[in-house]
Amino acid sequence: MYPNTLLFISGQWREAEKGRAIPVVNPATEEVIGTVAHASPLDLEDAVAAAAQGFAIWRGVSAFDRSKIMRKAADLLRANVDEIAKIMTLEQGKPLAEARMETLAGADTIDWLAEEARRAYGRVIPARLPGVYQLVIQEPVGPVAAFAPWNFPINQVVRKVAAALAAGCSIIVKAPEETPAAPAALIRCFAEAGVPAGVIGLVFGIPSEISEYLIPHPVIRKVTFTGSTPVGKKLAALAGLHMKRVTMELGGHAPVIVCGDADVDAAAKQMGAAKFRNAGQVCVSPTRFLVQDAVYEQFVETFVGRVKEIRVGNGLEPGVTMGPLANERRVPALESLIADAAQGGAEIRAGGARIGNKGYFLEPTVLTGLNSRMRVMNEEPFGPLALILPFGDLDEAITEANRLPYGLAAYAYTRSAKTANTIAASVETGMMTINHLGLALPEVPFGGVKDSGYGSEGGSEAIQAYLNPKFVSQAGI
Ligand code: NAD
Repeated sequence: MYPNTLLFISGQWREAEKGRAIPVVNPATEEVIGTVAHASPLDLEDAVAAAAQGFAIWRGVSAFDRSKIMRKAADLLRANVDEIAKIMTLEQGKPLAEARMETLAGADTIDWLAEEARRAYGRVIPARLPGVYQLVIQEPVGPVAAFAPWNFPINQVVRKVAAALAAGCSIIVKAPEETPAAPAALIRCFAEAGVPAGVIGLVFGIPSEISEYLIPHPVIRKVTFTGSTPVGKKLAALAGLHMKRVTMELGGHAPVIVCGDADVDAAAKQMGAAKFRNAGQVCVSPTRFLVQDAVYEQFVETFVGRVKEIRVGNGLEPGVTMGPLANERRVPALESLIADAAQGGAEIRAGGARIGNKGYFLEPTVLTGLNSRMRVMNEEPFGPLALILPFGDLDEAITEANRLPYGLAAYAYTRSAKTANTIAASVETGMMTINHLGLALPEVPFGGVKDSGYGSEGGSEAIQAYLNPKFVSQAGI
């Protein structure tokens, strides 16, 4: 039931040159479940040529018609949710319910951007002379190279593809080799909905080879990347060298400020669910829980209580609420962060160890007794790891929240409007949600500041990243 994944170039699904392919592993069982085609430079050249042709066609399709085709793709995605969710769980590990939610949310993202396609307005600027029209016209930037990671196989790809298509761009997606079949199923929906050949390309291979080929290529006019900060910095530098527009969606180390006047039970419940969703492999995952002294013990106890209710296992099994880590290298990466903290004096309040000897399972873990010298307090854990620290006054919490170079998401709980305003104004972050979980809907901005990147992949800002303003001043003859 798990399909092998091919390249999608010029409207055709095809093997890579010389039939090269990479195995795909189920992270819950460590079994090889299929393969993904491994593109060579010749395959990439074909993809680029197709994207150039696709752009020439797609930019000529009216926004009205682009929007209709996109909505049809969204409907196809919804219609295929059962099959796609199963594929996603097999390759990525997340519980089936989360895979379904992600697929359906992908359809909502397409719908939102299909609507934005029809509202990519320019403007008319009043002229200094009679008979002169000063127009600002929004034009698509051109063929896009997109790089998407393995934590949300549909969501990370759909944000890029739907925004590019809405703007009238063509796009080549380098989707994740670890989780290739769900993104391929998404691209199939677009193709079946009527997106012309060449407008979308899908490739896989060695990530550095593909980015070094595509980013400098003169046909490519825009680069979008989601992944780690170190890789993002490399790709942004390469794009800068070749004067390409860039969107960078990078790492985070999100602070959660729980004030003494907060609804502590609600905070522990909501944050417990958010932290361990997708086994913590989420760029906006809440990570540093800064809890005011008066409610610290209550928060730790309630949070740890929630953590002990999590059922870890194969995401296909009913009742499982947390799957394995998505790939083998993440297990030692997290074990080493936990060991470093424990050596430095941290207390393991829940979890802390690998589960079993098959599958990349790690216990949901809670650490206290932390200090800023520990690696985990500085490096993005990107796993099921919660760090809880006490604070005295609010300034202390804000200083800690802003200590790291990251600035993606932040969370806060307080019953005081004044405190909420202070936190919203003072925390250096691209996204802030207070007293509830309110991030990542298609219609709201999604992006970071500082080392977390730049540009937005949500809201009406999402389409702007794929448009160039052209100024035309026209006088009557
Ligand atoms: P990594 O840094 O090796 O890779 C991150 C992503 O970038 C992967 O999808 C990878 O295929 C891609 N990549 C790596 N080198 C590339 C290159 N030269 N050109 C193009 N793409 C390249 O890390 P990893 O082990 O895959 O993941 C762990 C880290 O990645 C985490 O600590 C987390 O910070 C980050 N990450 C972030 C997100 C996110 O949503 N922002 C998603 C996945 C991973």
